[in-house]
Amino acid sequence: MEVFTNTKRVLDSRKTTVELILSDHKKECLSCVRNNNCELQTLSLELGCDAKKYQGVTNSYPIDDSTPYLVRDNDKCVLCRRCVAACSKYQSIGVIGANARGFDTHIATAFEKPLAEVACVGCGQCINVCPVGALHEKESIDEILAALADPDKYVVVGTAPSVRIGLGEEFGMKMGSNVEGKMVAALRRLGFKNVFDVDYAADLTIMEEGTEFLGRLKNGGVLPMITSCSPAWIKFCEHNYPELLDHLSTCKSPQQMFGAVCKTYYAEKLGIDPKKMVVVSVMPCTAKKFEIGRKDQSAAGVPDIDIAITTRELARLIKRAGIMFEALPDEKFDEPFGIATTAGLLFGATGGVMEAALRTVVEVVTKKDAPSLDFKEVRGTKGIKEATYDVAGTKVKVAVCSGLANARELMEKIKAGKADYHFIEVMSCPGGCVNGGGQPIKSAEVRNNCDVKAIRAAAIYDADKKSQLRKSHANPAIQTIYKEYFGEPNSHKAHEILHTSYVKRDKF
Ligand code: SF4
Ligand code: SF4
Ligand code: SF4
Repeated sequence: MEVFTNTKRVLDSRKTTVELILSDHKKECLSCVRNNNCELQTLSLELGCDAKKYQGVTNSYPIDDSTPYLVRDNDKCVLCRRCVAACSKYQSIGVIGANARGFDTHIATAFEKPLAEVACVGCGQCINVCPVGALHEKESIDEILAALADPDKYVVVGTAPSVRIGLGEEFGMKMGSNVEGKMVAALRRLGFKNVFDVDYAADLTIMEEGTEFLGRLKNGGVLPMITSCSPAWIKFCEHNYPELLDHLSTCKSPQQMFGAVCKTYYAEKLGIDPKKMVVVSVMPCTAKKFEIGRKDQSAAGVPDIDIAITTRELARLIKRAGIMFEALPDEKFDEPFGIATTAGLLFGATGGVMEAALRTVVEVVTKKDAPSLDFKEVRGTKGIKEATYDVAGTKVKVAVCSGLANARELMEKIKAGKADYHFIEVMSCPGGCVNGGGQPIKSAEVRNNCDVKAIRAAAIYDADKKSQLRKSHANPAIQTIYKEYFGEPNSHKAHEILHTSYVKRDKF
């Protein structure tokens, strides 16, 4: 059989299909968040569609903006069901599906509940696969502009490791471009008083988490200990495995540690009332918008972080300010929280937290330089990785997973008593934060032809290879904060400011 795929008949048929989709589509391209990065728009142009050809009855659904992180506008949905697949297959959550039938079919939760009332974890993986503007993060750009314009506020910003790896793509640069210097320059021009690096707080996390792990190992604490940096993972665990919450490290995530040290240590140094300080975080993640509102995340009596935005929102903010990103010079982060190691940078890729922790744990226990800082067994985009390392005569078995379906597999193993691990790293998004729900969106065509997460992760390992500072405990700014403020890792003061607690949530 010979099949012709681009005859006039086929092209006419494709055109009619897209025109029928457009007949029941809220056509708001001029103000749509996906304008210029929309698969429906691209197809319509390619096929020469007449967007107004078919006029008739249209559906109109209420916008679901019940969560602090996600907006669903079903009037722009093309019913491809990619979000449904991402939620159930990558993440094993399945809180959304196709409700009703025929012309009334729409994507929603069971019983049409608002997303905030189901066990959605805020990972944003549904946004990343959506071809159109039906799903997007809840935007906080106006809040930032208002804070920057307020003379009574001292506004600082910090950027997560993988933001510098993704941001350039929003300005047409090739995937895997590390635009750290230009990103810092852009943030400075936007008017932030200080531009800090959340990699510093990742180093701080390693000091606290590594010490917590060694304590549990020595004193018979709950093992395996599981990392707590990824807020969608934490919410997932609270909904689905409340009986395993004691396994979670009590460390706040790097985002929250960053906000906490800004509003305590740094505010005290500057003599500023923490109420007047606005801390903005730029994250590759939508769940971070949920995390900032969690209980027990207010070290100075006010929220550690005031506003969390995604990499995509930062790009929009830069564009709105008319900054020519590509033409910016490379600039450096401000001190003290701009001094970071590439152990902190590794947090952007699956296996990175584990590798950073191992670098520190091995050297702290043996009290000498590790023979190698490369723990290559935990690298790579495989969903679940395992390795065993000899740490001063103790065999430490670790596991690393990304994507919540893989996390579920490991949790079931723990529940069944079949997991002999000491330490587990979980990142909610497949491949880790480089592929987070707030990173630049790639079309299906791009995703099908290359491994986006591997290309972005390679940029992180490349920077690590070239770095002189590769161990969190060797970060001079980290050594200073312990000397001047916390005393030692896991001290009483460190616990009050840098650690948190978890809650049990409904399963549905
Ligand atoms: S989803 Fe695409 S086609 Fe629809 S309004 Fe937005 S940009 Fe335009
Ligand atoms: S944010 Fe994550 S958990 Fe929530 S609906 Fe989307 S994919 Fe599912
Ligand atoms: S991925 Fe987007 S367009 Fe496709 S079903 Fe989900 S919301 Fe609709």
